[in-house]
Amino acid sequence: MKRAHNFSAGPAVLPLSVLQELQQALPSFQETQQGLMELSHRSKTFTDVVDKAKDRLSRLLSIPEDYEILFLQGGASLQFYMSTLNLLAPNERADFIMTGTWSVKALKEAKRCSLSEAIWQPKDGIFNRCPKRKEIRPSEDSIYVHYTSNNTIFGTQFAETPLVNKRLVVDVSSDICSRFIDISKHDVVYAGAQKNLGPSGVTVIILSPWAVEKSREVDSIRQGGIPSMLNYGLMVDKKSLFNTPNTFGIYALERMLNWLEDQGGVDEIAKINNRKASLIYNTIDGTDFWTPHAKKGSRSQMNITWRAPTVELENKFLQEADENGLKALKGHRSVGGIRASIYNACGVESVLALVDFMDDFAQKNG
Ligand code: PMP
Repeated sequence: MKRAHNFSAGPAVLPLSVLQELQQALPSFQETQQGLMELSHRSKTFTDVVDKAKDRLSRLLSIPEDYEILFLQGGASLQFYMSTLNLLAPNERADFIMTGTWSVKALKEAKRCSLSEAIWQPKDGIFNRCPKRKEIRPSEDSIYVHYTSNNTIFGTQFAETPLVNKRLVVDVSSDICSRFIDISKHDVVYAGAQKNLGPSGVTVIILSPWAVEKSREVDSIRQGGIPSMLNYGLMVDKKSLFNTPNTFGIYALERMLNWLEDQGGVDEIAKINNRKASLIYNTIDGTDFWTPHAKKGSRSQMNITWRAPTVELENKFLQEADENGLKALKGHRSVGGIRASIYNACGVESVLALVDFMDDFAQKNG
């Protein structure tokens, strides 16, 4: 079987060993003689999978013991609204740091059920960096600050936690488990699984004790209460099994976390990620032919964005890359150009193949 070098932004490449484990689980899972997707979500076999996935994630991210972990549906996009709905009464506000499309969408949803506002956005409207701590001024009456740790579309990433003395809610969809993040400094951490954690259709949500408590309080204040399917407190009580979850997706996630533990965990994968990203950034910086999109200091280790001298050359690059087995390098439609998404499961060999191809292309077309 031939597999291409896959630079998709998500759903993204998964390790072949994980795909093979999933394949095996389909006709008969463990000793059950029932396929993975044919098992009750309330069976002991499956609830063990949920518990294992939680244990692995707790270990990998050093999640404090009193935090809760949920595996829900609706993607990160639902969390834009759900986090606000649970953490804010209608007359309360959160502050949003606007670093790209996903923060814009997050605030749009938050405004539906709260008085939330943006507190930082790039003056020139170009999303090519993340603010430094000293640039962020939270409002006095905000309950928390929301930020997007890695901006998948623009290829920027916060180099450090943006604030220290305020409650934080973070969208880590495109960099969860790729590097260290201090979960104890956050109250809600959420991510769609389809980049670093498996297939689409599962969302990981990590909640502090304060977040769970606040959800219960807001539930009693909001008219009619928080709808069941959007209620953090209820989901915690039901251990993510209020209704039928994505059982396949949760097992895939558990296997991805197992794979990550086998790689040596987050600190080890972070070193590899750093090496992969440096290889591409050095190639971009090594010639005038390429123009990077993200400013130094905010460059993403997960999604790397850059331009060729003309749109025609970009199209030629994308076509020839595709023909050479380097797939899904087209920049997001809102930005254009080229984007290489190099999540945990994208191997160094794929990145080496890409930088070789880039050098060759620049030489021939420069
Ligand atoms: N946030 C970020 C940072 C993302 O990259 C994405 C998806 N690319 C989303 C949110 C939306 O995720 P979903 O499609 O799971 O709703």
